[in-house]
Amino acid sequence: MFNTLKKIIQYPRLTQEYPKIINSTANFIGQPVIHPERCCFCGACAQRCPSQAIAFDGAARRIGINYDQCVFCVLCEDVCQSGAIRMTHCFELAERSRAKLRPDGSVLTESAAAEPNTADAKPTLVIHEADVPAMADEALTGELKKHIMKVFGRSLQIREVDSGSCNACDYEINALNNPVNDIERLGISFVASPRHADMLLVTGTATRNMQQALVKTYQATPDPKLVVAVGACACSGGIFRDSYATNNGIDSLIPVDVYIPGCPPRPQAIIYGILKALERVE
Ligand code: SF4
Ligand code: SF4
Repeated sequence: MFNTLKKIIQYPRLTQEYPKIINSTANFIGQPVIHPERCCFCGACAQRCPSQAIAFDGAARRIGINYDQCVFCVLCEDVCQSGAIRMTHCFELAERSRAKLRPDGSVLTESAAAEPNTADAKPTLVIHEADVPAMADEALTGELKKHIMKVFGRSLQIREVDSGSCNACDYEINALNNPVNDIERLGISFVASPRHADMLLVTGTATRNMQQALVKTYQATPDPKLVVAVGACACSGGIFRDSYATNNGIDSLIPVDVYIPGCPPRPQAIIYGILKALERVE
């Protein structure tokens, strides 16, 4: 008992206060950004990109990054001799529409252009496509708790679904419950059954063997429900795009409310995505 008390006094509070306070992101690799004015349109980055995330048209001098596909691997920055691509520390990238992760004016890759299920084209889930008033992304913890209580009448219950991931995204989701992130301070907790869940956090590409399980889990979750795609695999198929065994995004199987890019997205990026999804259930 004495030792426990001593440790409590000895060690500082570990829990970070995101989203109230954004902690230093200096050590984290975030969104890659293209500076077209510096680009010589050699196409080296597009050739090097392992997930075909760079939409490139040399003749038309157009270039852009499809962030739903990007795995933040830094290879494009390394290979670019003109210094036109820079990795940033930005991690708050989650969007409610997959189309928003594809920059205006960019040229879609062939497979992406052929893809039938852009987020804007499919039906939405809990409420219809109408835009609800947005809750401030930088919502304070107390306000967020009140918002969740107002919407659900209790804390938000999440069921995580691994639909065929490498497990990195799942480790980051696991980290939401550690003392550093402590997502329960926001009134959000994880449950074991989809029947008790308000939100599904889905990782992985929805492999052939997991497709039926994913759809059944979605059907078993009571309405109103939210679906959040976590990581490049769930958003677009990531580096496994166009494989015979995977889907190019879970939205070909179930409706998705929010897409969180990254490979894997860090815990704060996932918290940001969950907050974005909560804006939709008013
Ligand atoms: S950081 Fe993204 S855009 Fe750049 S090479 Fe890697 S996957 Fe492609
Ligand atoms: S997005 Fe990246 S980290 Fe997440 S499951 Fe896919 S390969 Fe793994």
